[in-house]
Amino acid sequence: MSKKLLTIIVPCYNEEESLPIFYEAIRDVEPKLPTVDIEFLFVDDGSKDKTLEVCRQLHEKDERVHYVSFSRNFGKEAGIYAGLEKSKGDYVVIMDADLQDPPALLPEMLGYIESGECEVVATRRVDRKGEPPIRSWFARKFYRLMNKISSTDIVDGARDYQMMTRKVVNAILSMKEYNRFSKGIFGWVGFKRKWLEFENVERVAGETKWSFWKLFLYAIDGIVAFSTAPLIMASIFGLIMCLVAFLFIVVIIVRTLVFGDPTSGWPSMVCIILLVSGIQLLCMGILGQYLSKAYLETKNRPIYLVQEEDGK
Ligand code: UDP
Ligand code: MG
Repeated sequence: MSKKLLTIIVPCYNEEESLPIFYEAIRDVEPKLPTVDIEFLFVDDGSKDKTLEVCRQLHEKDERVHYVSFSRNFGKEAGIYAGLEKSKGDYVVIMDADLQDPPALLPEMLGYIESGECEVVATRRVDRKGEPPIRSWFARKFYRLMNKISSTDIVDGARDYQMMTRKVVNAILSMKEYNRFSKGIFGWVGFKRKWLEFENVERVAGETKWSFWKLFLYAIDGIVAFSTAPLIMASIFGLIMCLVAFLFIVVIIVRTLVFGDPTSGWPSMVCIILLVSGIQLLCMGILGQYLSKAYLETKNRPIYLVQEEDGK
């Protein structure tokens, strides 16, 4: 019987320093994966440094290394999608280039998959050591909120580092949405899943691509993609405002009838107008978020564009 193929998908954006270290790290665990052949698939996400050249060199040196290079930066989610689409493996694993996803877990993951115990082995980090405290705080709050307002299971600390069978890859590929929030998509497709936990590791080289602001926008993307709760919230806001306004009308009519009509209170009026118009703008903004996502979906643009693939 021929060996099964394991594809390692690595989305890379400006990872010229990390990539060679990553490659060597995988070579080091390879002897512990005797039951499979390995295929590397580097997805260069429009890097501005020499990442593409590193990919080319590795491809020359080792025929098991394949790469795809995008025409510009499309984001990690697009990189993952392209990787899954181009992968040939019976099993597929997604890994970051910076070694924050420990390769030492690979043999264990493969073990669970091969035993048929599950279709997906996912990982989560149990702590956020080495991360700014404010960021960790917001991240935790985001996951709490997300799990309250979305029916899709989105696990705190879950990484994109997961190994899956072809069946699961096909399921993920069948979700062709343009606004891709992988953490949600992985939960949405379901399948029997096993979780492995590990302690946070800091990246080996280079810098994180995520500023606080980018993470914040990413969180909003996630909410809009996997929950409609904000829309309901907007309606409830509106309803509450109507009720309050109605109460005020009653109070004012009664007061006028009983005490006459003292015309006063423009400061309170200003406050009310500001408050109500603020809430209106907020709700319009929420609506706008959904509309803009729907707008992008209907355009049906490709998720990524390839500039170079395995030297061609
Ligand atoms: N990445 C990517 N495209 C991007 C940003 C990041 O392909 O636009 C890749 C990056 O090269 C790395 C992985 O996604 O392999 C995770 O990025 P990073 O380490 O910056 O994120 P963090 O681990 O800090 O969440
Ligand atoms: Mg990282």
